[in-house]
Amino acid sequence: MSEPSASKSPIVGIDLGTTNSLVAVCDAAGPRVLGGVVSALTPSVVFFGADGARTVGAEAIRFGLSRPDRTIASAKRFIGRSAKEMGAFATSSGLPLTEGPRGLAAFSIDGQCVLPQEVSAEILRTLRHQAESELGVSIDRAVITVPAYFDDAQRQATRDAARLAGLRVLRLVNEPTAASLAYGIGRGSQVGEKVVIYDLGGGTFDCTLLEIIPREADLETDCFQVLATAGDTELGGDDIDRAIVAHWFRDGTAPELADRARLVALAERLKRALSHSASVEETLELQGDRRAFALTHAELDEIAKPFVDRTLACCSRVLNDAKVARDAIARVVLVGGSTRLSLVRRAVADFFQREPYTALDPDRVVALGAAVQGAILSGNRRDLLLLDVLPLSLGLETVGSATAKLLMRNTPIPARATEKFSTSMDGQTSVKLQVVQGEREFVEDCRSLATFHLTGIPPMPAGIPQLEVEFLVDQNGVLSIRAVERRSGVEATLQIIPSYGLTEAEATRMEAESIAHARSDMERHRITDLCVHSKLDMKWISDALRRVRSELEAPYVEDLERQLAQLAAMVHAAEAGAQNIDANAFSSLKQRLDVASVRLHECAISHSIRGGSIR
Ligand code: AMP
Repeated sequence: MSEPSASKSPIVGIDLGTTNSLVAVCDAAGPRVLGGVVSALTPSVVFFGADGARTVGAEAIRFGLSRPDRTIASAKRFIGRSAKEMGAFATSSGLPLTEGPRGLAAFSIDGQCVLPQEVSAEILRTLRHQAESELGVSIDRAVITVPAYFDDAQRQATRDAARLAGLRVLRLVNEPTAASLAYGIGRGSQVGEKVVIYDLGGGTFDCTLLEIIPREADLETDCFQVLATAGDTELGGDDIDRAIVAHWFRDGTAPELADRARLVALAERLKRALSHSASVEETLELQGDRRAFALTHAELDEIAKPFVDRTLACCSRVLNDAKVARDAIARVVLVGGSTRLSLVRRAVADFFQREPYTALDPDRVVALGAAVQGAILSGNRRDLLLLDVLPLSLGLETVGSATAKLLMRNTPIPARATEKFSTSMDGQTSVKLQVVQGEREFVEDCRSLATFHLTGIPPMPAGIPQLEVEFLVDQNGVLSIRAVERRSGVEATLQIIPSYGLTEAEATRMEAESIAHARSDMERHRITDLCVHSKLDMKWISDALRRVRSELEAPYVEDLERQLAQLAAMVHAAEAGAQNIDANAFSSLKQRLDVASVRLHECAISHSIRGGSIR
């Protein structure tokens, strides 16, 4: 290998997959996958040797057969997640799960805690070396793809993994978005054209809707914008393999536990073989008996149909989300090994009424797209620019455990939003805030991403400090938060305590619930707000009455006090959790008091001016 030259070093594109990973580059000859002619795919598996040596890829799988306790696969499923969330999956996959710092999912090797980002870092290091030895230059910059539904914690953890591997991540790109880049969609496409990326792999499904948007005046580029995404992390080719086994045992008998893995592997092999033959058959020895297992096209279609139907339901959801009609889709791109199934190709073509793009290898298309993005960033391809969207809304917990959404789901990123609020107690110098991700109105129904404390707020009466919190989501979908107290200009110290990511199942559930519960949530949210504002009003009115009661007529004071008591009773009932509160009745009670207290306001102000103080 020649002396590495960092100055000419290209930006590689990396598809860091759950099962397999690969690295690609895009140069004058166009995008190409690196790392071997026979198979460029590196299995995303790491073996931790007793001597501290780490082995990655096919060899790690081989070593792992005898030492599964030292072998980690599917680290991507654990990255940026909590041990609690991953418990069931770790048990079923036999992985040595342990609890890392802050309850994070980690693996236990020889009693040592290994984080998923360390496992991913080993894979990234291997890919980096593959690229370096093939290109003859040192590589230190990369574009890495992540699933569209990855939340902030998962994206951050992926960046951390790259850093550990000596790679600077110039951009995290959503996997479906990378696929469209690989096909060069965007160049020469009509502005407004809509593109669907249908990605069905071994364990997951993703559907993304892109739109080609007009060039910015100062950019000589075409732009993609992601209009909507949806997915399912528990839907893929593996489900079809298990369903094939169930089909073979449809007479009600069950295979022995010890035979199951070999049967699933056989099902997978025969499923693939059907791409080249009309029917397939193989024998397998089970518990001393040799049995024949066969599969025809018709059977495979029937077995796969319910899963394919689920993917199409997801596609419908994406179209509904973006309010785009099915016949408005100009192109459909297929990604993921399972899109080689002829049923998938036919079903997708029927659904969208057009032939999908299948020319590129569906296993390589994401890495190729990442490489194209790398070339764009290095200035070699100025003809495309990428925009992306937030997978879930981001917000803050407000009073009463309600959420204030600052950035809505499917907002194009980079995105920025600010929220202003104040303190609720006199002399309060710190505020604790919770950042939440999800679609529902209340914190308990969303997912906590982080808690942070604003400290150093100068002591002032309640409601006077003007706190401004800014959310900034960068091109990679990574969130940073800044807060400032405007009156004093004091920049608050943010102590971010990261929580963990959302599972796709949770994301989907939260999203579905948000629609189902939207009305009742809104009502609860409104009542919570009414309580907060009513309490502030009541405090102010009571204080003012104490000071100027003698200057007002008795009937007016009595009326105010009656209304105050009614509103206090309503607030008390709402805070005690009464279910029958009518938000409209509550609101009119509060408004009546607002109107009635105008005279009190005027009187209190003139009293203060005479007394030389305005409060
Ligand atoms: P990926 O996660 O994109 O690597 O896709 C892996 C999935 O693609 C596995 O479930 C494979 O069984 C499936 N797959 C690969 N080749 C074929 C094929 N020719 N026909 C059907 N499924 C396939």
